[in-house]
Amino acid sequence: MLTSVKDRPVIVTGGSKGIGKGIAKVFAAQGARVMIAARGADTGQAAADELRAAGGQVEFCQCDVSDWESVQNMVSQTVDAFGGLSVMCANAGAFPQTKMVDMDPGEWDQVMATNLKSAFLCVKASIPHFEKAGGGRVVLTSSITGPVTGFPGWSHYGASKSGQLGFLKTACMELSKYNVTINAVMPGNIYTEGLQDLGQDYLDTMAASIPLKRLGNVEDIGNAALFFASDEAGYITGQTIIVDGGQIIPESLEAMEEI
Ligand code: NAP
Repeated sequence: MLTSVKDRPVIVTGGSKGIGKGIAKVFAAQGARVMIAARGADTGQAAADELRAAGGQVEFCQCDVSDWESVQNMVSQTVDAFGGLSVMCANAGAFPQTKMVDMDPGEWDQVMATNLKSAFLCVKASIPHFEKAGGGRVVLTSSITGPVTGFPGWSHYGASKSGQLGFLKTACMELSKYNVTINAVMPGNIYTEGLQDLGQDYLDTMAASIPLKRLGNVEDIGNAALFFASDEAGYITGQTIIVDGGQIIPESLEAMEEI
């Protein structure tokens, strides 16, 4: 099962750290040829080296996903290195936590560009190569924050993650012409370096509010992305999957105490 990505060229934006690195690891373990993309060259190169040392076919390219020229370069570099493009995992994202009263409007624009405009840019740059290949897959990393839940300080982030799902609906129709599916994974709280910065108290409180009593790990998201990218998921498009250990289900703190 889910072995169809073997030797297929895959881009994972934000693949140098956290969830993106987890997605890259899961795809590389299935024999895919993975280009990880991020702005930071040292961290990105180190991640590619680490995944290659574990036996993966993994390269790194520097890219700012909010910049059209940079995204086009990322896709060209991938096609040059691997001979085509089969899967675009548009995962890179930023989540500065700032309440609206303190938020500079420029921060709003930056979060939208990194999280939402980037999804459009990554898809747009991929279309000619998917068309050439006769098909392809896009997997977006959205979030439960925005589409399902709210959290003070993340108005811009939540809007960008909901926006990705609005984009998904029309993109799935336009991409069907090229035999391309597009779906989104909606992670709950996943244990990453980024989340670590929020402190142990935050992590412990979050774990206590999740029915499965743990934060997710990056491979949990990688496995969902692998499913959407696989041949087995070929008839699924425009859809979402929440991967959150049941986090959004309890209707009150009391409900959690009943477990
Ligand atoms: P992370 O550990 O902070 O990693 C973010 C990655 O994105 C890094 O590789 C970073 O590298 C890259 N990146 C950021 N801005 C970029 C830009 N403008 N251009 C290219 N790359 C950029 O974050 P994460 O927790 O893994 O989050 C990854 C995705 O999952 C995001 O879309 C996030 O919204 C989503 N998500 C995360 C969680 C969670 O619990 N962690 C939950 C729900 C959704 P550089 O900084 O070097 O560019």
